[in-house]
Amino acid sequence: MSNGTIGYIDIIYFKEHEIVVIEIKREAIIKKDLSQLSEYVHCIKKLYPGKIVRGILIGQYLDDNLKVFLDLMGLTFKSYFYDIPLRLKICDKCRKVVGINQNNCNWCNSEDFLPF
Ligand SMILES: [Zn+2]
Repeated sequence: MSNGTIGYIDIIYFKEHEIVVIEIKREAIIKKDLSQLSEYVHCIKKLYPGKIVRGILIGQYLDDNLKVFLDLMGLTFKSYFYDIPLRLKICDKCRKVVGINQNNCNWCNSEDFLPF
C-alpha cells in the first residue's frame, strides 16, 4: 500500500496460522503511518477471518506519543537501527528480500536496494 510517495513498502508474510503485515518507512514516523498500517491489518483480517494478523511498522524511531497510539492499535514497532538483522536487504524495485552480499535482486535482477 502506498501513499503515492517513495518510502512505503508493504511486505505480507503468510505463516500457517498467522499473517504478518510489515510496513517500512524511511522518514520519521507520523501518526498517519500508524493509521494506514492499522487499516491494512484490518483489511487483511476481513479477507482471512481465521488467521491472526499482526502489523509491524519498521522505521528509524518512534516517539512516545505515537507509541501510545501504536499500542492502542495493537501494532508493533521495530527500529531498523536496533532490531533488524543486517544480513538481509530489500530490493527497491520489487520489494523482495535478498542476502546482503547479493549485487542483483534474485527476483527481478534490479541493482537498487533500500538504503539501510
Ligand atoms: Zn527485485
